[in-house]
Formats: sequence, C-alpha cells, structure tokens
Amino acid sequence: MGHLDEQSYGAAIAGCPKCDRKAFEVASYLEREQPVMLGEPSQDGRWIHDQAKLVDGTYRIRCLNCDHESHASPDCPRCGRAASVSDALATPPRLAVPRMCPGCRSTTLLVTATVPARVRTGEGAPTSPVPIAKFGEHGYHIVAIACEGCDWASPAAGCPVCGGSTTPPDEVSGG
Ligand SMILES: [Zn+2]
Ligand SMILES: [Zn+2]
Ligand SMILES: [Zn+2]
Repeated sequence: MGHLDEQSYGAAIAGCPKCDRKAFEVASYLEREQPVMLGEPSQDGRWIHDQAKLVDGTYRIRCLNCDHESHASPDCPRCGRAASVSDALATPPRLAVPRMCPGCRSTTLLVTATVPARVRTGEGAPTSPVPIAKFGEHGYHIVAIACEGCDWASPAAGCPVCGGSTTPPDEVSGG
C-alpha cells in the first residue's frame, strides 16, 4: 500500500470494509509550532498543518470499532523511504534546541516540528490531533529552529519526518 492522496484518503475513511462503521483513528505526522525558552517549551504549541498535510503525513488508519487497518504503510509518508516510519517514531529529535540564540543571546526561540499525532475522523468533523510524542521525546522531530529577535535560523537537513535524503528516488540520476 503506497502513499495516500486526497482521494485514497477519503476512500480509507469512508467506511470500514469489515464492520461497516465510519469512525477511524488516523495516525499522521503533523507540523507543530512550539515556542521555547531556555531550550524548553514555554507555552502550548499549535498545529500549523492543513488538510493536505494531514493526508500527506498519514501512515496508519485504523477502524475504532474492529481495529481493521484500512491503511497502513511502513514507509515514510513524506518521502516514501522504505520501512522508515518505525525508525522515525523510535528516533530522538535530530536537532538540539540551544538555550539561547547563538546570534543575539535571546532566550526565546520558535521551534517547528513534525509530531506524530492521532486524529479521530469519519462521521462529523475530525477532532483536534492528539500528539503521540512530546517535545524532546523519541518520534518528535524538530525541522527548524528560528529566532524572532534576529535572523538566526537552524533548519534540519533531510526529510522532515525520517531525516532521509529529500531527493525523490526517481530524480536521482543513475551512475
Ligand atoms: Zn471496522
Ligand atoms: Zn537571535
Ligand atoms: Zn521521510
């Protein structure tokens, strides 16, 4: 089972083929913005993904009634790297957050992360995502750190979810 698009995602949450219910738990890697002070979260973060990114980050869809998985892929949902979802979930953040901005010594920085989360969907509007990994935990991947006081920024290299090379396999030239 490959990557989901808007259409296959819609089909996967349209109804369970086993029990006919329409309530699903979607597990997806979603973007979150997290303000930090002295390297620790200083206030609640907020989700910054849109519906397209929710679909784009989905790696599992499970029926809440009978546990049937209408979608499950071991590959990275963002870059398609084989069997890398479990790695992404088990790996600590690849970027460390400094206690102070190296540019201007400000102690407040803004972290952008991809965070695995559960969303309930099916009948009615999807619920607000519940994060599976907290700041600093395995699976919580920092993709950028920025200072609002100066223009210092530290973007992570590679895929925002699994850290792999962002060059799509079909664009890698042979030889
Ligand atoms: Zn079911
Ligand atoms: Zn700064
Ligand atoms: Zn990836």
